[in-house]
Amino acid sequence: YAKQKGRGATVFYEPSMATVVAEHLQLEADLQRAIERQQLSLNYQPIVSLKTQKIVGFEALVRWSHPQRGFVSPAQLIYLAEKAGLIVSMGQWVLSQACQHLLQWKPQFPELYVSVNLSEIQLRHPHLLQEVKGVLESLKLPAFSLKLEITESNLMENITHTTELLRQLKALKIRLLIDDFGTGYSSLSYLQQLPVDTLKIDRSFVQNIQAGNKDFEIAKTIINLAHSLSLEVVAEGIETSDQEEMLKQLGCEFGQGYLFSPPLVETEVMNFLNQNQ
Ligand code: C2E
Ligand code: MG
Ligand code: MG
Ligand code: MG
Repeated sequence: YAKQKGRGATVFYEPSMATVVAEHLQLEADLQRAIERQQLSLNYQPIVSLKTQKIVGFEALVRWSHPQRGFVSPAQLIYLAEKAGLIVSMGQWVLSQACQHLLQWKPQFPELYVSVNLSEIQLRHPHLLQEVKGVLESLKLPAFSLKLEITESNLMENITHTTELLRQLKALKIRLLIDDFGTGYSSLSYLQQLPVDTLKIDRSFVQNIQAGNKDFEIAKTIINLAHSLSLEVVAEGIETSDQEEMLKQLGCEFGQGYLFSPPLVETEVMNFLNQNQ
C-alpha cells in the first residue's frame, strides 16, 4: 500500500477490522449500561424570539460523557444507539427527562416549551404516540409545552406512515417542527399536507449568509415558503449579530445559536432565564 502511494507518502496504519468491531461492541455495551444507570444527560439551548429577544423555549440535546473516552458526539451516540437497538429506550428517556425539567421551570415561566428531537427509528416505532401521550398525562403537562423535531430527511423517508403519525400527534395539539430544513428534499405537495407548525432553517444556510448571496436567497425562499403555508420559522446556528439582523429582516421569527447561548446544562437554565427574561 505504501509503495503504491510512492516515496514520501505518509502511511496510516489502520487498526484491524476485528479491533474496530470489538471496540464498537464494547461501546454499545457501555451505552446500554449508561442508559440503565441514567448516565446520559440533557443540555438545553434557548430559542429566542428575534422580535422581542425573549426566550420562548429550549431544545433538548442529549449528552454522553463516556467514563474512559470522554464526550461522545450526539451524532455518534445516535448512530450507536440506532445500531444497538437502544434508540427507542434512549429516546423515551430523553422525552420524559426533558418534560420533567420543563415542569420545574414552568411555575415561573409558564409559556416556555421544550423541543425534543426524534430519530427515524422512533418515528417507526408503534408505541411512540402512546408514549408521548403518557408522558404529558402523567406530568399533567399541556401539549403546547412540547414541540417535536423531525429532520426533513427522516420525515420524507416513509412519508405515508409519517403523515399519519404526525396527524395523530397533532390531534393531541403537540407542535411539530421540521429540522435541518433545506438539506433534505421535501416535496412541496407533501409539505402542504403535513400538519407541521414550524420549519427550522439548517445552520449551513445561516453560517455564510451575506446580503444578496446564495444562502441569503435560500433563507429568504424558505422563510417566504413557510409564511405562505402559515408556518413559523426558526433559524439554527446563529453566531453573529449580522446573521441575526439579516434573518430578522427576512421575517424569520425565532433564532437559536451561540450568539444567544450555547446549550446549557440543566442547572444553568433557571439562572439564564432569570437573567434574560
Ligand atoms: P440538531 O437537532 O440540528 O441540533 C442543533 C445542533 O447544532 C446541536 O448540536 C447544537 O449544539 C448545535 N448548535 C447550536 N447552535 C450552534 C451554533 O451557533 N453554532 C454551531 N456550530 N453549532 C450550533 P449537537 O448537540 O451536537 O447535536 C447534533 C445533532 O444530534 C442534533 O442536531 C440532532 O439531530 C441530534 N440529537 C441531539 N440530541 C438528540 C436526541 O435527544 N435525540 C435524537 N434523536 N437526536 C438528537
Ligand atoms: Mg433539532
Ligand atoms: Mg437542526
Ligand atoms: Mg442541524
